[in-house]
Amino acid sequence: MAYDQNNIFAKILRGEIPCKKVHETAHSLAFLDINPQAPTHILVIPKGPYVSYDDFAAKASAEEIVDFVQATGQVARDAGVAESGYRLLFNHGPDSHQEVPHLHVHILAGRPLGPMLV
Ligand code: 5GP
Repeated sequence: MAYDQNNIFAKILRGEIPCKKVHETAHSLAFLDINPQAPTHILVIPKGPYVSYDDFAAKASAEEIVDFVQATGQVARDAGVAESGYRLLFNHGPDSHQEVPHLHVHILAGRPLGPMLV
């Protein structure tokens, strides 16, 4: 699947639509989800044009992947949920109901989340 430069997160990265930014690194951006499903609901995205988890895992550089993983951990720590716990969720492709075709991980926390989010 080709990357759609007009997806909503591409527009956020270009500054064309606003977001509530919580963290930024050389290769990653974290911001609040517009429709939170938990008291803490943050999205972390790579700045590169990766459609999905599979696309990122296959094509991203080691530097981008390390940056993304470390940024996600830092964001959770900064949000104060590293001790109480959090869930990381990637939706990949149609069966998972991925809505935005730019890789993102959801950080969900701030309440007991139950055994699974399905
Ligand atoms: P997906 O289903 O693709 O894994 O999740 C997409 C997420 O993006 C949803 O949780 C949705 O609330 C969030 N989202 C969609 N549009 C926007 C937006 O314009 N701004 C922000 N901050 N989040 C958005």
